Amino acid sequence: TNTVKKAQQIRSQSKSTIFDKILAKQAPADIIYEDDLCMAFNDIHPQAPVHFLVIPKKKIPMLEKASKSDSKILGKLLLVAKELGRSRAPNGFRLVINNGRHSCQSVYYLHIHVIGGRQLKWPPT
Ligand code: ADP
Repeated sequence: TNTVKKAQQIRSQSKSTIFDKILAKQAPADIIYEDDLCMAFNDIHPQAPVHFLVIPKKKIPMLEKASKSDSKILGKLLLVAKELGRSRAPNGFRLVINNGRHSCQSVYYLHIHVIGGRQLKWPPT
């Protein structure tokens, strides 16, 4: 029917990302941590022996869209990232947030990359 077609058009235009689906358990992921505010799962294309992502349950498409009211969740993401990072990569780890096109952000759902388990180089190119 027209109503169904219209609903599908709206859905296809909605900015649902793969991370929305993982959060909703509608897409598979290797989930390593979850609480009321956030979730962490292994990156599907790891750049190092340890490479996981920490995301808020509240959707923020990119860091620049975060506001003062997100202070608590932003702090929480850092604390979860460092706890998991410390236990999985005890010799050190790196946090990365890509924001926008020049940074190579490809999934528009805020996520912190936590990378470690090998000697990393600096600066990133
Ligand atoms: P980039 O793709 O350039 O690293 P982002 O900072 O947006 O940009 O990172 C998105 C990350 O999400 C990538 O590291 C990618 O491998 C990862 N990713 C994409 N799809 C999935 C998935 N289904 N499960 C786990 N990680 C995923």
